[in-house]
Amino acid sequence: RTVYINGSFVPEDEAKVSVFDRGFLFADGVYEVTAVLDGRLVDFDSHVDRLNRSLTGLGMTMDLNYAALLDLHRRLVSRNGLREGVVYLQVTRGEADRDFHYPVGVAQTLVMFTQEKHFSTETVKGLSVISVPDLRWQRRDIKTVQLLAASMAKMAAKEAGKDDAWLVEDGHVTEGTSSNAYIVTNDGTIVTRNLSTSILPGTTRAAVLRLATEQQLKIDERPFTLQEAQQAAEAFITSATAFVTPVVEIDGMAVADGRPGQIVGRLREIYIEESRKTAV
Ligand code: PLP
Repeated sequence: RTVYINGSFVPEDEAKVSVFDRGFLFADGVYEVTAVLDGRLVDFDSHVDRLNRSLTGLGMTMDLNYAALLDLHRRLVSRNGLREGVVYLQVTRGEADRDFHYPVGVAQTLVMFTQEKHFSTETVKGLSVISVPDLRWQRRDIKTVQLLAASMAKMAAKEAGKDDAWLVEDGHVTEGTSSNAYIVTNDGTIVTRNLSTSILPGTTRAAVLRLATEQQLKIDERPFTLQEAQQAAEAFITSATAFVTPVVEIDGMAVADGRPGQIVGRLREIYIEESRKTAV
């Protein structure tokens, strides 16, 4: 695999980051994961917007503009012959002697690599999730590389023999470990938590809510409880790698009849179709 690091494309085993990198010592960095379909980038504008938003949140800016980032993504995809998968991008504040204060005049570290994935475009298997307390910090709207709480939640799910976890705070679902969470009520309304510092503003969330509106589906952006989710007509998640994926079991209770719902199926189809058309 060819990876990108600070201005160069190099074989992956030649790419090295310092032990003094603040990404390593402080999780002082942000990232993006962009899906690639047919060799093209899905929702790319949203990813660039959110990257800049995350950087701003940590008091950083980046000298690469939209066109430069698009060019780097395309070159990396092409060098790796990637047709379907993801591009991972990470920016850290850079390398400096260990000190909590931000260093001044230090070059950021920018790394990018690809991962091949085969996103099924057929109807997917519904996920079984467990709920776990949301132990993350309170600026979840910034996509930082501090993912330990999410890793712990994913491990707890795995140990319980389930696919993933939904994170719960004050009795309400915040989001999935690496996805936004939704339910569909019995009257067909899509409910998903409103944007705030409590959740990540998903790029897929934005696209799916726009498509749902075009489909005249009702949307209610508000927190929902775990009990509401267990009694919902449908449940699902969205993310750049899961697209739209049904959730069929929550803490051992089947959602409706325990099979992927109709609305989620339709949204998945429409989202993938639209993504193939609009990818750059
Ligand atoms: N929420 C969290 C905590 C995530 O880590 C992710 C993606 O990785 C999402 C939501 C979904 O965001 P996106 O649709 O941009 O992938």
